[in-house]
Amino acid sequence: MAVRIGIIAIQGDVEEHIRAMEKTLAERAGQGEVVKIRHRGIVSSCDAILIPGGESTTIGRLMEREGILSEIREAAGDEKPILGTCAGLVLLAKEGDEEVAKTGQPLLGLMDIRVKRNAFGRQRESFEVPLRLSIFEEPFHAVFIRAPFITHAADSVDVLATLNEHIVAAKQRNLMALSFHPELTEDRRIYHYFLDL
Ligand code: GLN
Repeated sequence: MAVRIGIIAIQGDVEEHIRAMEKTLAERAGQGEVVKIRHRGIVSSCDAILIPGGESTTIGRLMEREGILSEIREAAGDEKPILGTCAGLVLLAKEGDEEVAKTGQPLLGLMDIRVKRNAFGRQRESFEVPLRLSIFEEPFHAVFIRAPFITHAADSVDVLATLNEHIVAAKQRNLMALSFHPELTEDRRIYHYFLDL
């Protein structure tokens, strides 16, 4: 079956995700395509949506202005899989921290999680670690860039990974949120896992 994956292509590491997703699709038997979403009217034709890293303030505001936020809420209601990485994790959350409140950035508000932006502090703005995810046998080489983490998750949320006791990967039904950047490694297990959803 041919699948259509939509990626929010407003700002951030869009091209890297497209390349990784296209390689993942090529590794699978079925056919599929990746389409960029910059305007309203595309989300409903997609089987799954990917929200990349970047600046969640910019991405959120432009998604709101273009009418994409409400389309994605609808897609989530239809049980379509949605993956948010880094800034995308922030956007998926129901609740933000003081920084989110201060900027007044819109959130999708889909996952029962509270997030903290730029959570790992200055000295560790960017770092890489082998990360244990509950869904994989082998650790995942995780790249964190000014990453957020989840400070609270409801019982209905599956915690997939923690780092220093902070939640950095979570899943709730069809929704998946990662603090790190899977598009920056050649390990495509997360993309395969997402397409399996
Ligand atoms: N700090 C960014 C934000 O919260 C996220 C960083 C990233 O996506 N690499 O918008």
